[in-house]
Amino acid sequence: VKYYLQNIQTKAHLNAFVEVYEQSALAQAELINEKIASGKAGRLAGMVIGIKDVLCYDAHEANASSKILQGFESQFTGTAVQRLIDEDAIVIGRLNCDEFGMGSSNENSVHGRVLNAADETRVPGGSSGGSAVAVQANLCTVSLGTDTGGSVRQPAAFTGIVGIKPTYSRVSRWGLIAYASSFDTIGVFSKTVKDNALVMEIMAGHDNFDSTASRKPVPKYSELLHFDKRVKIAYIKETIESPALQPEIKANTLAVLEKLKNEGHQVEEVDFPLLKYTLPTYYILTTAEASSNLSRFDGVKYGYRTPNAHNLESMYKLTRSEGFGEEVKRRIMLGTFVLSASYYDAYFTKAQKVRRMIKESTEDLLNKFDYIIMPTTPSTAFKFGEHSNDPVAMYLEDLFTVQASVSGVPALSIPNGKDKLGLPIGLQIITNSFKEAELYAFANYLS
Ligand code: GLN
Repeated sequence: VKYYLQNIQTKAHLNAFVEVYEQSALAQAELINEKIASGKAGRLAGMVIGIKDVLCYDAHEANASSKILQGFESQFTGTAVQRLIDEDAIVIGRLNCDEFGMGSSNENSVHGRVLNAADETRVPGGSSGGSAVAVQANLCTVSLGTDTGGSVRQPAAFTGIVGIKPTYSRVSRWGLIAYASSFDTIGVFSKTVKDNALVMEIMAGHDNFDSTASRKPVPKYSELLHFDKRVKIAYIKETIESPALQPEIKANTLAVLEKLKNEGHQVEEVDFPLLKYTLPTYYILTTAEASSNLSRFDGVKYGYRTPNAHNLESMYKLTRSEGFGEEVKRRIMLGTFVLSASYYDAYFTKAQKVRRMIKESTEDLLNKFDYIIMPTTPSTAFKFGEHSNDPVAMYLEDLFTVQASVSGVPALSIPNGKDKLGLPIGLQIITNSFKEAELYAFANYLS
């Protein structure tokens, strides 16, 4: 804890942490030392973790990096965080992110932007940018992020670490401030596959507080990392031939596929013509869900209330106008539009149907192949401000991560070399629902 507190202090300019729980982390460490001495320590004894500012932790503030939640203190601890604490993990602080998890660069935060430690003039990715940088820069051992459309995998790729989005419903969402409820997952950032697997096996599983959380038993992922079989791997032509793909990322991805072929695995190119519909489907459905989820922030129940109101209606309007940032407002408007009476069928219903097609095609592919491999991102970390005035260019950053999100299947990003500027490149591995054990074992083999 002292080591990490020191690093947090010397690297404060990275702006990864919004709040550091110095006293409680030190006190917790003392207690755990005693437990270790008496042989009663939990499985995560001494693991120092940071949590994204969208996860509720009893008697601590949670803002979702939004002005509208400033001053809001949670009255309970979410299931994922509680399970880690129960195994003696130490929570060292909460981590910066894009407002309500909306973004791909961590530039949309009331707490300010987060710097990528690989090159401080560049973004760390988003929305879980603070969580990624905290692990990248040795400010904690492991961190929790959330991944709705790539928010763990993309920043993991940009910072050269391991990041997983589990199967939808594998980890309880109780205590996670909702963005798009049918996509939201809680994921893990770590330097090694093994740490990641251990934290996931403790966090995952059924929970009475989240009716969508799966009842399937959770294997001990961290004890199943051995990999010695020959497998079938697909790579999607439309990803590798995408004009948006940076040449070095393409080269490094192809090099992994070549190596796998040489090691006796079956590697095949496949077509996935629906790929071009994944991003529009994702943005129609997530904005719709967000517009509904965010209606609860009205100045009455949580956090910020405008001081400028003169009646009830102006209180609602001004609170929301002053409290939400630009990107969040854009999405509330888009979501409200696609859900409106005259456009519901044309956009929302249509997108739901396309979602089903993407999900079924992805699952079909994963019934024929053990894994799909593709780049995590089309480019390496970009400069601050590069996409700030062009939301569509920013949305294109999620081109390769949204397929797994729309389909609900698990996906993981591992480091795969660097580009000529020395910026980390990520490799994404996707597999079928609830096959996290297979995903971790394969990632371990490739690492
Ligand atoms: N960049 C994507 C978005 O803004 C993904 C965000 C996420 O996974 N939370 O929606």
